[in-house]
Formats: sequence, C-alpha cells, structure tokens
Amino acid sequence: MLSLTLFCNLSYAQLNRYSFEKGMMGSPFKLVLYAPDDSVANAAANSAFKRVEKLNEIMSDYRDGSEINLLSAQSGSGKWVAVSKELFDILAISQDISQKTEGAFDATLGPVVQMWRHATRKGIFPARQEIEEALSKTGFKKMKLDADGYKVLLAQKGMRLDIGGLGKGFAAEEAIKVVKSYGIKSAMMDAGGKIVLTDSPPGTGGWKITVSNGSDSLKTMELSNTSLATSGPTYRYMEYKGVRYSHIVDPKTGVGLLYHVRTTVISPDGTVADALATAFSVAGIAKSKKYMKFFPESKVWLVEKQNEQVADWNMLE
Ligand code: ADP
Ligand code: MG
Repeated sequence: MLSLTLFCNLSYAQLNRYSFEKGMMGSPFKLVLYAPDDSVANAAANSAFKRVEKLNEIMSDYRDGSEINLLSAQSGSGKWVAVSKELFDILAISQDISQKTEGAFDATLGPVVQMWRHATRKGIFPARQEIEEALSKTGFKKMKLDADGYKVLLAQKGMRLDIGGLGKGFAAEEAIKVVKSYGIKSAMMDAGGKIVLTDSPPGTGGWKITVSNGSDSLKTMELSNTSLATSGPTYRYMEYKGVRYSHIVDPKTGVGLLYHVRTTVISPDGTVADALATAFSVAGIAKSKKYMKFFPESKVWLVEKQNEQVADWNMLE
C-alpha cells in the first residue's frame, strides 16, 4: 500500500507541489514532484514506486527467489547466466567502480555481509578463520560480464552478490525516469539518503539540500539535475566490546570500518554517487583523492576519525 502524504502548498505557473513517502528496500523513499493536478501526480508516483518494487524483486538479498540470489546460487557451475537488463546494468556499473577504486567497492562481498549480519544478531564476533573463509569466496574479479546477451559468470562456488552499496541509488534513478515519462520536469527522489534531482522547483534556484559531517557542521546547497548520496554508520552498525563497526566492510580485511564517520558524494548519476559514497568510505581520504581523477564530474565530502582526530576533506565548498 502506498501511504501518501499529499499537500499542495506552493502553486506556481499552475504547478502544485506533491509529496509521497513509502518504506522500501529497508528505507524511507520520499518523492517530491511538481505537477499540474492530482491525477498526474498520483499516477506518476504510483508508477515510480511500482518500478522500485520491481527492482527490489530483482535485487533483494533477503528474498531467496530474487534474481540476484538465483544468480548467486549458480556460482561455480561454470555457466554463463542470462540476466535482466536491470541487473546487468547495475553489475556493470559496480564492476567499473570496483576497477577504478582498486576493489574498495565490491559487489561480491555477500558471504562477508551475511556472516556479519549473523554475528550481529547473535552478538558474537566471528573467529578469524570464519572471516577468512567468507573472504575466500569474494573478489570482484571472479565475476565476469558479457554485454552481448547480458550474461554473468560467477567463477567460484559459494559466491554471493550484494548490491546494497548502490541499489538505492539505482532505484532512485529509475524512479525518476518513470516520473519524467509523465511529462514532469521538476522532481526529487530521496531513497534513504540517495537523492536524484531533476529541474529546480518552479521559481527557485534549486532544491535545497542540507548535508552534514555527521556531527556539528552543516552545509545547505541549492542543486538541480544531479545526484547526491550519503553513507555513514549513524544507524546501521555492529557494536562489540564497546567498539562500533560500520556495515560498510573493508574488502581487504572482511571487517566493518572503524574510522569512518560520513561520506557524501555528488555525481551526475545516482547509482555512481551511491557506489562512490561507499567506495570512498572504505578508501579513506588519501586514496580517494587518487581515485577521484577517474570521476572528474563528481565531488565528495569525506569525514574520518583517526584516533581522536577528525580528518575532513570537503570538495563541496
Ligand atoms: P546504506 O545503503 O546503508 O545507506 P551504503 O550505500 O554505503 O549504505 O551501502 C552499504 C551496504 O553495501 C552494506 O549494507 C552492504 O550490503 C554493502 N557493502 C558493504 N561493504 C561494501 C563494499 N566495500 N563495497 C560494496 N558494497 C558494500
Ligand atoms: Mg552506497
């Protein structure tokens, strides 16, 4: 059911502001759009949320029958598996970013992510050997893609894909495409902190977006026709013996990040913004500066803790 909050408080050139919200992919999805009347607004919002629901059926790692889990189940069989265009596109973006970030972003971390989910539920820190075992089934280079026929090969048995690091950004992009197909020019989709923006709200200089460094510093920007993604361990983390581990995992160690505070990335594409926010969180400031040369159209604000010192790299100023 689409729970809908709808208000038309701003009217400009016969366009009204509409706002919708629905919990999807474990996060609140908020859609704001400017439309001439209720019927256009409702139809666009309904179709956009349906599109996200469809993508969730493909990408969810919680559902046994999701396309991504069925694909993972064929790992090590030696078979090239034909997948949907959506899944192929998302894996292709993921592989590109893995290559450019020396594997800081890695969509094959499923076995490690599953192990941590289990450990978090039980409150037991996994043994070194268990971490090594899970890590041995990861590595983006073991995933091969063939654009001809959208085929995927997972080279090792026990591999498990997890696209939680860019799935919401992709969903936001796709939802906005649907909204645009209704002739709507000005819209924003906020998919749990992964935001895709089109033209500015009528009569304004942009969508007002406020980002923070995770504690005291705030920055408000007016943005349009761009995307923005934030990653941070504020809500999702594991705590063990007073130490807080992020749900973002370092693919080299198989352990959640300890020193990460918050990463915000602005990029022309929402999927890329989401993936980079995760990748730069892993890479840290020094390496991210190096990787940034592959993403000349992107900007980042990265805050990390080094012992008790907070380091801050802010390209958004
Ligand atoms: P969120 O979706 O919680 O806002 P992210 O976009 O950073 O945050 O995605 C975190 C999710 O990505 C994790 O829950 C996990 O599924 C997956 N993940 C964890 N570490 C990595 C990594 N190094 N590379 C790619 N995906 C990761
Ligand atoms: Mg991400």
